[in-house]
Amino acid sequence: MKLFATNAFLLQRAKEEGYAVGAFNANNMEIIQAIIETAEEEKAPVILQASQGAIQYAGVDYIAAMVKVAAERATVPVSLHLDHGTDFEQNVKCIRAGFSSVMFDGSKLPLPENITIARKVCDVAHIVGVSVEGELGQIPKSGENVTREQLEKLMANPQETEEFVKKTGVDSLAIAVGNVHGMKTREAQIDVPRIKKIQKLTNIPLVLHGASGIPDESVKQAIKAGICKINIDTEIRKAFVRGIGIILKENPNEIDPRKILGKAKTEMKEAVREKIRLFGCNNKA
Ligand SMILES: [Zn+2]
Repeated sequence: MKLFATNAFLLQRAKEEGYAVGAFNANNMEIIQAIIETAEEEKAPVILQASQGAIQYAGVDYIAAMVKVAAERATVPVSLHLDHGTDFEQNVKCIRAGFSSVMFDGSKLPLPENITIARKVCDVAHIVGVSVEGELGQIPKSGENVTREQLEKLMANPQETEEFVKKTGVDSLAIAVGNVHGMKTREAQIDVPRIKKIQKLTNIPLVLHGASGIPDESVKQAIKAGICKINIDTEIRKAFVRGIGIILKENPNEIDPRKILGKAKTEMKEAVREKIRLFGCNNKA
């Protein structure tokens, strides 16, 4: 049995059955446990992803080793994915470390360059059965004060997505459709007809980043339009801090890290559960 499921495998089924798989960012042991335990309780396939920042923080071998232990014991399919790898080298390092899926984010590069590097990543990754996610359009960060007009200019161009998918061979594609990274409130307005159009032209599983800032109703519409993987990071961070706040308020003298982080884990589990149910991937393992 393969240790990790690939994103290509998980997302193909999601596409056929009309749900989305949750992709949750992991930075430490408690976060990984919160995500996997909840996925098991909900009988949901799950994607654990590490950003370049997380890899810098914890070390690529630490992250991979922790997730391997978690996946070995898990009763649900688990994928280990690189989130926003911005160069070819980072992608190769993660493939070597045992990731089952990588992302090449060349969205800030001119299209031809994005295509060339994404193609190179696919060439290497596909030899060893690793899936690749590409990105088109630019997803701004919360706090950059982007106007609606600018946001629309940053959205993925449907014709370009068709060209990109054909020329690179990526297994899934993240698209900018009005979503914003790191939003603490849920008020992003996404362009659902654009998702539908891109889905028709590319016919591959599409990915929605920055989903912590998108209202639930829009998330459901996005899934209907062709979104098969949804990234959640900010909601977990908020739950982590909320848990620590609760325990320290209840007991300001608490110094046992297990009790403090244990409460953080409980809060994170509820945040993960809410998203898994919203995405419709519960009972799909
Ligand atoms: Zn992202």
